[in-house]
Amino acid sequence: MRAVTVAPGTANSLELIEDYPEPAAEEGSILVESLAIGVCGTDHEIISGEYGEAPPGERRLVLGHESLGRVLEDPTGTLQPGDLVAGIVRHPDPVPCPNCAAGEWDMCRNGRYTEHGIKALPGFARERWRIQPPYAVPLDRALGQVGMLLEPTSIVAKAWDHIERIGQRAVWQPKIVLVTGAGPIGLLAALLAAQRGFSVHVLDLATSGPKPELVHALGATYHSVPVHDLDFEPDVVLECTGAPTVVLEVMCKAAPNGIVCLAGVSSGGRTIDFDAGALNRSLVLENNVVFGSVNANRRHWELAADALRRADPLWLNSLISRRVPVSGYADAYTSGPDDIKVVLEFAV
Ligand SMILES: [Zn+2]
Repeated sequence: MRAVTVAPGTANSLELIEDYPEPAAEEGSILVESLAIGVCGTDHEIISGEYGEAPPGERRLVLGHESLGRVLEDPTGTLQPGDLVAGIVRHPDPVPCPNCAAGEWDMCRNGRYTEHGIKALPGFARERWRIQPPYAVPLDRALGQVGMLLEPTSIVAKAWDHIERIGQRAVWQPKIVLVTGAGPIGLLAALLAAQRGFSVHVLDLATSGPKPELVHALGATYHSVPVHDLDFEPDVVLECTGAPTVVLEVMCKAAPNGIVCLAGVSSGGRTIDFDAGALNRSLVLENNVVFGSVNANRRHWELAADALRRADPLWLNSLISRRVPVSGYADAYTSGPDDIKVVLEFAV
């Protein structure tokens, strides 16, 4: 069967293998036919050789962690043939650490977790894959065109879960949410904010292309100005750019008792001149919280599946900039200027 693979650590080793072996029985009892795979920045980092790890004893890694498939067989009876399913990306570390032992692999403390298509487990960019029932998340049949958005949505479902837990430390009546960055993660974070009934603002550099319209369609306000020029103080910020200046400015911009969730990964290596004392003063005197958030556990995947089920299918579909058949796989992994989410299609 066909599989999209790389040799981790070797730049530009992307290759479609035509005779990749069928998934091994020990990968899981549920056999799934791959429908589509979402492509994201992590895939680009793996292809450039900066990131990624092949399974033990293998040289190549199958890509793909944003999955959508259709169940072919499930002898456990957990799912039925024909059901739509997505595979949870991260598996707990073998020790396991206290968090992984409690099913909180997103909070793994020792870094020995594994991840499909990223770290030591084959990905979902192959015609068929297998998964164990605890890692198979069922999707509403109406999500047959956009179910590969479940993985990025799980990331923002976790961010919102932690924001709301932190908010419970005192009386908390948030009204204004600022999302910085209108890529897939930022737009899905804004979707979940809109579903909660907040006044939602999204800030991004782009002044043309699809982003402003996608934001307006959520009933949210689009801004293309520096953070310090915004004329409001957000109660909640979801920072999805990882751009150092934006990260620092949103920390200063948050309202009293504000919560800033950092969900963008910076590349690092660049220093900027900044008054750290003034930031500390503002965080302390306003009881502000800044925290980082990555990955998601099964509870968040289920929250995400519910959020997608309640979203406008046309809006979700408009996040998909291009759908590329697997025969043209290289195009799916080349970024276009107005791309939001590119999808590699195996079967439809
Ligand atoms: Zn762990």
